[in-house]
Amino acid sequence: MMLQPAGRSDAPTAGLDGEQVRAAWALMMNAGRIALLAHEHPDGDALGSALGLAQVLRDFGKTCVVACADPPPALYAFVPGINEVQTDLGAEAVDLVVALDAGDLSRYGALYERHRALLDHARTVNIDHHVTSRGCGEVNIIDVASAATAEIITLMLMQLDVAISRDAAVCLLTGIVTDTRAFEFSATTPRTLEAAAHLMRAGAVPAEIVKPVYRINSLAKVRLWGHVLESVESAVDGRLVWSCLTEEMLQQSGATADLDDGLPSYLIDIAGAQIAALFKEHADGYPRVSLRTVHPYDAAAIAAHFGGGGHVRAAGFTFQGTLADALRVVLAYLEQQLL
Ligand code: AMP
Ligand code: MN
Ligand code: MN
Repeated sequence: MMLQPAGRSDAPTAGLDGEQVRAAWALMMNAGRIALLAHEHPDGDALGSALGLAQVLRDFGKTCVVACADPPPALYAFVPGINEVQTDLGAEAVDLVVALDAGDLSRYGALYERHRALLDHARTVNIDHHVTSRGCGEVNIIDVASAATAEIITLMLMQLDVAISRDAAVCLLTGIVTDTRAFEFSATTPRTLEAAAHLMRAGAVPAEIVKPVYRINSLAKVRLWGHVLESVESAVDGRLVWSCLTEEMLQQSGATADLDDGLPSYLIDIAGAQIAALFKEHADGYPRVSLRTVHPYDAAAIAAHFGGGGHVRAAGFTFQGTLADALRVVLAYLEQQLL
């Protein structure tokens, strides 16, 4: 494999640390059996990054296992290889772990809890784009300028001059499309589009991702969104908006909890909203809170205050208490931010 000479300073890959990229690639090339991890409650970026990189590594003869604490949402049925995602790592030893789209092992949820003995000591490469990530590998490629982890992987492969199959390109483009809501979010940069263009040249078609993800909704999802949107409340002159997604709403609509994807962004798009919060009840655990903000409010900092993290505009956390307590405590804190 040829390494590209040091690129022009305006080359799409210029922002990545070439030494780190080569160190990560060397670890992957020296491994035989590799586990690729997507964070819990997976989204298109976590899944697309893990499956896309797995497919690239298989072209180099590697045995890859893709694992995630929770099964992939049905929405991602079109993603090549989605059926191979395991919720457990099994007993076989792995030479290398590649942890994707989260920078702390705890974000891999039950998978981490079950495989602590392995994951605490395994050689690990961590690739992520969250501002709150500390890095959980011996090589950490944490690039907050990237709109998606899949963007980082694409740039790495461009820098390394590694060929990307059509299936791998579809996986990686799914990550970029879903983390930018089809290139709409402000995290989208010229480089994001250059990475996407590279994946299109490898055979991926954005429309074939956008349609199943953003246009085709199940009846259950539309009904669930109806319940949540009907319950929207606001305070501080409409600058704070929030809603709840309760177990009762899930039952009434016949929906699953993962159908909330996109709802928090819908809330922050309400005219005048500056901080939006979606409180999600969980029958088998503490409530999760999704935050969205507009400038100058920092969602990652607010989430970090409650033990979570994320990005400046989108972040989340789990609240260690009841839904009623979460509403009381978190809303009071958010109101304070807006004073
Ligand atoms: P969500 O509201 O679940 O869409 O999450 C928004 C963003 O924050 C995503 O990029 C998540 O990966 C990140 N995020 C959510 N919860 C946490 C957490 N507990 N710790 C760190 N990052 C989180
Ligand atoms: Mn993610
Ligand atoms: Mn991501």
